Amino acid sequence: MEYSHDKKEAAKLSKSAFDRIQKEDLVCTPDIFELWYVYYSGQSPEIARAIDVLVSNQQQITDRRCIELYERYLSESPQEEAVRRAGDQINSTIQSMSGAVRDVRTATHDYSGKLGGVSERMMNVKNADDLKGILDDVMSDTAGMLEQNKRLEEQLDQSSHIMEELQRDLESVRKEARTDALTGLANRKAFDSEIDRVASDTKHRGAAFSLLMVDIDHFKGFNDNFGHQIGDQVLRLVARTLTDGVKGRDMAARYGGEEFAIILPDTPLHAAVIVGESLRKAIAGKEVVNRNTGEKLSRITISVGAAEFTVEEDITDLIERADAALYTAKHNGRNQVAAAPTPGKKQKKDAQ
Ligand code: GH3
Ligand code: MG
Ligand code: MG
Repeated sequence: MEYSHDKKEAAKLSKSAFDRIQKEDLVCTPDIFELWYVYYSGQSPEIARAIDVLVSNQQQITDRRCIELYERYLSESPQEEAVRRAGDQINSTIQSMSGAVRDVRTATHDYSGKLGGVSERMMNVKNADDLKGILDDVMSDTAGMLEQNKRLEEQLDQSSHIMEELQRDLESVRKEARTDALTGLANRKAFDSEIDRVASDTKHRGAAFSLLMVDIDHFKGFNDNFGHQIGDQVLRLVARTLTDGVKGRDMAARYGGEEFAIILPDTPLHAAVIVGESLRKAIAGKEVVNRNTGEKLSRITISVGAAEFTVEEDITDLIERADAALYTAKHNGRNQVAAAPTPGKKQKKDAQ
């Protein structure tokens, strides 16, 4: 949060915050202090509402609750922080660049004025000394101008280096924000934007596109038997197998927990089922080994729901249909692929 209070206001808000912290018998950490400072400044209606609700319900205001509020409304994620820092740096770099350009513009104006004055002085030249004086002045003004231009060039060069570095940093932050930390797959956010993009591209080109929803079978039992760490290892193994099993523009994403989603552009339903089937086989064929002990653990299987997008529906409908097919695969005994009927299309068995 940014603060723009003057000395007097800031002192008043700090005092209110500090008094309240003492009154509620809270620990005065910087986070809790900031929470109360913001509360009294009225800068966050969400914080004001949350605290007022606690007060009106006569709930005790504890350190824990304050920290929760701080984390919910005031703490930045590392990515938000990186973006804010980069924004600040871009601002200050641009300000110093435009300052330098302004200085050169003024100097150029002065220089041109001085050159203009030369013709007048030339009319009054009487001897070689006069001429030498004019020439010396012009040369020294020109040298000054060149020096100033050189400084500008250096400054612009330095600024452009800073910008390039920021560009690289921001690119990695952007990538991080779209990647699932555990598996390295695209995360839900990246999935949401990619599926929108593919759907509109599909509509535009009149092509086919399918979605696979994948869920690990009996994963809860696996976690309970072998522990969460091995569970995480399995999630990474499944993620790797899914990425290896799809090609080119296909995108495998972690949809949530132990569910994955695979976007298959230019793929009709029957081809999506073939992809799903090959992924299912690839996973069932993997041996899960406890990395610490070398012990072989039970094999894992996945169930897959496939659905083909139709231009009449929106993405939520498509996901729901793929999810319903996934549920069918689970219901029919797991470790299998089920296809969702495509609305408006005759199914094979009706056609027979
Ligand atoms: P089903 O065959 O019907 O899908 O059964 P299931 O046990 O896989 O389904 P359920 O949804 O009941 O359990 C999902 C489990 O996945 C719950 C949780 O223990 C586990 N899980 C979800 N996310 C993670 C994670 O990030 N790490 C680990 N280790 N386990 C996770
Ligand atoms: Mg499951
Ligand atoms: Mg699940």
